[in-house]
Amino acid sequence: MTTRKDIADITFPDVKETIADLKKKFPPRENPICTRFAPSPTGFLHIWALFTGTLASRFAEQNWWTFFLRIEDTDQKRLTEWWIDIIIQWFKKFWIKIDEWPIWPGNADVWNYWPYIQSKRKYFYEVFVKELISKWLAYPCWMTEEEINQIRENQTKSKLVPWIYWKYSVRRDKSIEEIAQKLKDTNGKYEVIRFRSPGDLAKKIIFHDEIRWDVNMIDNYNDVVLIKWDWLPTYHMAHVVDYHLMRVSHVIRAEEWLTSVPLHLQLFKACDLGVPKYCHPAQILKIEDGKKRKLSKRKDPEANVEFFFEKWYPIQWIIEYIMWIISSEFEWRQLNNPEKSYKDFEIKLDKMNHAWALFDLVKLDSVSNNYMSRISTDQLYEETLEWAKQYNPKLAELMQSDAEYTKAAINIERHTEKDPKRFTTFRDVENQILFFYDSERETLFETKPILPEIFNQALINNFVSKYSNILDLNMWTEERFNQLKEVWKNFWFACNNAEFKQWWYVWKIWDLAMFLRIVLCCASQTPDLFSVMKVMGKDRVIKRLTLIKW
Ligand code: GLU
Repeated sequence: MTTRKDIADITFPDVKETIADLKKKFPPRENPICTRFAPSPTGFLHIWALFTGTLASRFAEQNWWTFFLRIEDTDQKRLTEWWIDIIIQWFKKFWIKIDEWPIWPGNADVWNYWPYIQSKRKYFYEVFVKELISKWLAYPCWMTEEEINQIRENQTKSKLVPWIYWKYSVRRDKSIEEIAQKLKDTNGKYEVIRFRSPGDLAKKIIFHDEIRWDVNMIDNYNDVVLIKWDWLPTYHMAHVVDYHLMRVSHVIRAEEWLTSVPLHLQLFKACDLGVPKYCHPAQILKIEDGKKRKLSKRKDPEANVEFFFEKWYPIQWIIEYIMWIISSEFEWRQLNNPEKSYKDFEIKLDKMNHAWALFDLVKLDSVSNNYMSRISTDQLYEETLEWAKQYNPKLAELMQSDAEYTKAAINIERHTEKDPKRFTTFRDVENQILFFYDSERETLFETKPILPEIFNQALINNFVSKYSNILDLNMWTEERFNQLKEVWKNFWFACNNAEFKQWWYVWKIWDLAMFLRIVLCCASQTPDLFSVMKVMGKDRVIKRLTLIKW
């Protein structure tokens, strides 16, 4: 007589071990609590990845626990060493501490709970599924895609949930003998292996989510696929097997997985395993035309983490912004104690926002501006340099060619009473220091703003010869301004509105200031002009003025 175990043996003839054997191989961790991040190989790091990665790793680290990276590549997306490396580098860049990670090609035994690449764990899934078959909690299924589509179409017409269950699954209730016969006819081949869900159509379940507390849901009664046509596991099966064998205590994952929890609870029970704690943080949304919507990979450049780095925001600030989204208490704490590290902030899952978090670029700018205004000039120099090395190597070279000069240029008006808080992004720093370097001047000058026509060559020559004789950059700003006014009075520049109203003054001193800005900085908007001149030094200022050919 054929038994259920025989069916399991025919389906997975090479699998000899049991779930209990695997459990022994991967015993509970010394530090029993552990979190993970499970990206799929997309070649793109979503802001959400940074959010969950930061949350899971901070949560693990603050409790001296483990945070590991496991790659989800069973969707047959092409996995490359390059991609794993990108993820690890990005995480490192954002100071996310990873304790265990995949070592290419994924079967290196570096940490106890290896391998960390799903496609390399195929055997483990087979052990589990084989045991589920022998317990009659899973079954091989031969329904084709066309048959399934037909069933779904009918269900939709009858307003039923389009799931495969009970009478909708042709093999679910076949006898052992019938299944054995079918396996024989097909040489042991089948379309997929399905879960024989114990769920009930009318039942509701309550489970505890660490962030959302008690959650009510309808039970799962879908006989989901556990092993696909390519003999790789689905997300659901891999989720249960991996997080048990890798001894994960807290599953922190996107809200979209919340509806799968009833199924996952059934699967853990079917495999006779304890259930990890679930944490489903709220989605990150953005407002568009007054409506909230999910950040879209296609439409929103800010969905890609690269955006923030490339578009010039400092890493520390991005981390702080992520922490703000994680906890509104962090926002409060940071505003009151800006000098404290985000690492000193204890994340409490049960205090996290259940409601959607808004991704607000205006607020981001204000956080970033605050951060950039707060840090020391040395630190701002270092961070800009690190950014420039990757995104503008020429700027990095220039910055290093005269670090003191660069720092003086960055430092203009910073941390003074009149501090205009000039920088929100690295691009602002770039724009405001590039003109200081002589080698850049010519190129920048090509696109200089237009000057009033009064500034002809004769006038400029005349001015430069007078001004270079008296220019003294050690004077106070006020003195220097008066001195400049004196020189220019000769050229019919009014120094104030009252003078301007008199007929013989044709131009205002502000036109002159604009002239100097353009000649010295190649821009009409610059940091405080006299400070710029002071940083440049007299020789450079005179040289730039003399060089000008109109
Ligand atoms: N690769 C899955 C995703 O990106 C991971 C889900 C999980 O964290 O378990 O949605």
